[in-house]
Amino acid sequence: MPKNTMPVLFIGHGDPMNALWDNPFTQCLSRLGSSLSQPPSAILVISAHWLGRSSQVNTTDQPETIHDFYGFPEELYQVIYPAPGAPSWAERTAGLSRNIKKDDQRGLDHGAWAILRHLFPKADIPVFQLSIDLPRPLHHHLLLARELKPLRDENVLIIGSGNIVHNLQLARTGEYFGYDWAIEFDAWVKSRIDERDFMSLVNYEKAGKAGALSVPTMDHYVPLIYSVGLADKEEPIEHAYEEIVYGSVGMRCLKIGK
Ligand code: ZN
Repeated sequence: MPKNTMPVLFIGHGDPMNALWDNPFTQCLSRLGSSLSQPPSAILVISAHWLGRSSQVNTTDQPETIHDFYGFPEELYQVIYPAPGAPSWAERTAGLSRNIKKDDQRGLDHGAWAILRHLFPKADIPVFQLSIDLPRPLHHHLLLARELKPLRDENVLIIGSGNIVHNLQLARTGEYFGYDWAIEFDAWVKSRIDERDFMSLVNYEKAGKAGALSVPTMDHYVPLIYSVGLADKEEPIEHAYEEIVYGSVGMRCLKIGK
């Protein structure tokens, strides 16, 4: 690959309150943001919080900060991430796949801004998002990710934002531990990544009961498939952060490439 290929990130975003917190996870995000050898021309986020029945990029000029959650402290609803949109990059992305449509209204959801606040606190890099066509099988998302690869050589930073382990029904908010099955599945995913065995991540049912409990719904797992789908087999993959919180929320983060 050319030397100037932009890395890809996968961020386990967890609790929306991380937008406001200063902890080892958010410190890792700050470090990742400043670890890039050059600033990205634009950032494309594939977030667990923009789901639909098609894949769309937002061509919005000035995307609003969407507070897409309920029951959190008022302070979190005051957070604005004022980065410009990236309409020309969104158009470029839509041109890469016949599966991608356009949306000229949509803002940024918290799967994007809650992490970007730490990654790029100046909010001066244009940001756009690609929605997840949720009914599609994981293999579809892997193939769509591969169609996005040219963006990496055009200095666009692509970030998958979800959680490898994400079972909110069984979560014990505020408690810092992992259920045995959560630890087992997170370790299984880690080993599959280290082996560059991305097809097993698509067929995660292989991981048995631990996989079923860790991925009760696809929304937070799909962003991982985009991130690994953008990887080349020879590239280094750094496990930038690993922790399981609330029993059933995996915070593992990846940096793919240099
Ligand atoms: Zn989330």
